[in-house]
Amino acid sequence: MCLFCKIAAGEIPSNKVYEDETILAFRDINPQAPVHVLVIPKIHIPSLDGITPENSAVVTHLFECIPSIAKEAGLVNGYRLVSNCGPDACQSVPHLHFHLLGGKQLSETMN
Ligand code: 5GP
Ligand code: ZN
Repeated sequence: MCLFCKIAAGEIPSNKVYEDETILAFRDINPQAPVHVLVIPKIHIPSLDGITPENSAVVTHLFECIPSIAKEAGLVNGYRLVSNCGPDACQSVPHLHFHLLGGKQLSETMN
């Protein structure tokens, strides 16, 4: 099982922000902003490249939950949602995840 599959299964503890049957949001262990939450599908999808018509319903659900997760995390003045895919983007955990960042004025650049 990959690291985030273990976190989703509760085998590795995490600081949870939101959880339901199919997705989990938890605090990043190495935050890059005052609020840095990772949002993942519980099923193993390796990256954005692994999204298919067969598994995209969970991704749709994840996106539908973003506004309430952001609100729950206190992101009242805006936020950024990022997903690194593959080596050029420095993806380090091979399980689809979205970084929800905020709690300060973020950089104008994204690279
Ligand atoms: P990536 O580099 O793949 O886009 O993002 C992986 C993220 O997972 C990084 O921001 C890293 O800090 C975070 N991370 C890695 N291992 C753990 C862990 O065991 N627990 C938590 N909460 N975050 C982790
Ligand atoms: Zn996984």
